[in-house]
Amino acid sequence: MSYPYEAPVSQVLFDRAAAVTPGGVNSPVRAFRAVGGTPRFMVSGKGPYLTDADGREYVDLVCSWGPMILGHAHPEVIGAVQEAVTRGTSFGTPGEGEVLLGEEIVARIGPVEQVRLVSSGTEATMSAIRLARGFTGRAKVVKFAGCYHGHVDALLAAAGSGVATFGLPDTPGVTGAQAGETVVLPYNDLDAVRAAFAAHPGEIACVITEASPGNMGVVPPAEGFNAGLKSLCAENGALYISDEVMTGFRVSKAGWYGLDGVEPDLMTFGKVMGGGFPAAAFGGRADVMGHLAPAGPVYQAGTLSGNPVATAAGLAQLRLCDDAVYATVDAVSERVSSLVGEALTKEGVAHRVQRAGNMFSVFFTDEQVTNYDEAKRQQAFRFTGFFHSMLAQGVYLPPSAFESWFVSAAHDDAAIERIAAALPAAARAAAESTQ
Ligand code: PLP
Repeated sequence: MSYPYEAPVSQVLFDRAAAVTPGGVNSPVRAFRAVGGTPRFMVSGKGPYLTDADGREYVDLVCSWGPMILGHAHPEVIGAVQEAVTRGTSFGTPGEGEVLLGEEIVARIGPVEQVRLVSSGTEATMSAIRLARGFTGRAKVVKFAGCYHGHVDALLAAAGSGVATFGLPDTPGVTGAQAGETVVLPYNDLDAVRAAFAAHPGEIACVITEASPGNMGVVPPAEGFNAGLKSLCAENGALYISDEVMTGFRVSKAGWYGLDGVEPDLMTFGKVMGGGFPAAAFGGRADVMGHLAPAGPVYQAGTLSGNPVATAAGLAQLRLCDDAVYATVDAVSERVSSLVGEALTKEGVAHRVQRAGNMFSVFFTDEQVTNYDEAKRQQAFRFTGFFHSMLAQGVYLPPSAFESWFVSAAHDDAAIERIAAALPAAARAAAESTQ
């Protein structure tokens, strides 16, 4: 397809990037491969807006894939960072910022009695799984097709959505041995989980799930699904790990746990809690966390874990995230998702806007989407036209039909009006898209 707006400076940067970095990006989805065209190289952000290297401004509906819940460059977060950075950038010792951030997380999230800080969501899920295996003395991990938990070898397996299918490595470089202990099941299917426990008695260390998946598009858990996972884990001596890297501190003060109240044994966090810096965490039951070194035998460590600048940013952001912020983000999400639905309906485009708290995404299908297979059945080609029309009109969407959209408390009427103005043409582009 032809792209209505080209980005010459971004293109030059992309060409230079491709010479020194595989594919020109440091995280694959940024390369626009799913939608084509030139990835925009951003130079600054303010509130709900991003500005690219060509000087064009966009309303941002990615929000750094979730972290920027207050919008970009919030003055109090920037102030906390400036204050912290003048005292030094890393000490490799314990520091007060880590204590404060740990206390903030424990205070907000009931099931988290103890927490360990790490630098990325991937590290959080990798460490939580190691801890679950160390605690239970078991090897197998159950995950769900379409759930993403970072690029942990054992968790990249997503193939084979049949009951109790052994995971196959989904990427070269992950060995059969690394993926062989992963059991991949269809999402929202408690019978499949029951069957997996029956097929592997005493072997399953944990079930890990996104608290509410946002990585196959937004596919909320069916009523009772998370509670069912929790009970099945408890009955079978396995740990229930809720991955709240995306939902944590975003969909409510206490994340998805704050909405469904199901108490996991372990939880993982990232994104919002880092205030835009690399900070993440895992935590949960004190008796389980007590198995971590140096309190216990399960090793886990990090040179930059609890980094003073990252913890200052995260703490400042979390302290600002009060009830009023969540009410605003929820209202923005409601307005934007409704506008998208209305525009697509007007053009007769088959679609489902699926919401989970203040996260939402659009599937180009008539059917409700409850798992990964159904998500893949959508007419994703329509998203390409829709995406490029929005981009050309100054609205930055996730460059894939299988990602959640994110809004912030900074998305004010002016930003929403810009989105509303762009939607009719984008919906038309979706209607006119051909495979
Ligand atoms: N878990 C979930 C649910 C995620 O959405 C992500 C990233 O998008 C991760 C884990 C991995 O986090 P990170 O990209 O910080 O490694």
